[in-house]
Amino acid sequence: MLVMMSKDSPQAAIDRVVQRIVDQGYQAHVLPGAVRVAIAVTGNEKAVRIENLQALEGVLEVISVTKPYKLVGRDWKPENSVIQVGDVKIGGDELVVIAGPCTVENREQVLSIAQQVKKDGAHLLRGGAWKPRTSPYAFQGLKEEGLKYLAEAREKTGLKIVTEVMSPETVGLVAEYADVLQIGARNMQNFTLLEEVGKTRKPVLLKRGMSATIKELLLAAEYILQEGNYQVMLCERGIRTFEDSLRNTFDISAIPLVKQLSHLPILADPSHATGDRSKVAPVARAAIAAGADGLIIEVHNKPEEALCDGPQSLLPEHFRKLMGEVEKIGAAVGRKVHKSIE
Ligand code: PEP
Ligand code: MN
Repeated sequence: MLVMMSKDSPQAAIDRVVQRIVDQGYQAHVLPGAVRVAIAVTGNEKAVRIENLQALEGVLEVISVTKPYKLVGRDWKPENSVIQVGDVKIGGDELVVIAGPCTVENREQVLSIAQQVKKDGAHLLRGGAWKPRTSPYAFQGLKEEGLKYLAEAREKTGLKIVTEVMSPETVGLVAEYADVLQIGARNMQNFTLLEEVGKTRKPVLLKRGMSATIKELLLAAEYILQEGNYQVMLCERGIRTFEDSLRNTFDISAIPLVKQLSHLPILADPSHATGDRSKVAPVARAAIAAGADGLIIEVHNKPEEALCDGPQSLLPEHFRKLMGEVEKIGAAVGRKVHKSIE
């Protein structure tokens, strides 16, 4: 349910509406807007009923929301959400590119790739310190040691850090170092983890599960927002289909669909979508043309020696070329690439 109030409602009137909602055992999420104050009522999957809300001062309209998600939808918030990480804004007019290795392997590796991608125009640095690997025998990540190297790379380059958090228990630790908490595809429906990152006030990058529908992706994001953390960006990273020539199938239509249904930014990850370096740039270009707010790209200086995802990692020179292409395609769809302040 949405309660629409006049934009010049006094705070006391808004507080009275919130109190009435809370007294009935629901949560109220107040969103002041240029035209109206929108209050989303959450806490019950079934239609919410609160008597006499309409009669309270300032209330213009009480609307029932038929979609299963309330806070991520455009009913509550028609305008795009813009998430700020340092001087980088994601979801606004500018395109943002996150780049770096799949995983932090050692100090030298992450520092040198960070410096390289920074030079080539990346805005944020990616790198996993905890890695969700299919095999328990594969490299699992450097854990806190990896976070320390990422923090050092941030210090040296100014690039803010995007890194994955895999369990509710480590959210506090990862949040001490990370600027953006990544939830990986395999954990998209780890609801305890979603609630835990929802309790932080760190931006979250939520990747689509490999077999998740768009509705499930949006409901996963809803878990984070309903805890009061509204800084969520979504990511299309390919889904599993009958087609097995590449690692996944990039669902290009997810981008305009998510944009239509939700105010949250959506990024594209052509690296995990394709699993093949030669396909990364074409899919990245297509995603920008389709309206993605940015990209997350794996880059490695020695992909043949990479401990994870070498075959899909771009060499720095490929990444540099892609940045030029993103600029051109962005211009064709009315987007500029963010220019970081030195
Ligand atoms: C990653 O980005 O490092 C990753 C593991 O991706 P995904 O969760 O999309 O597989
Ligand atoms: Mn990877």
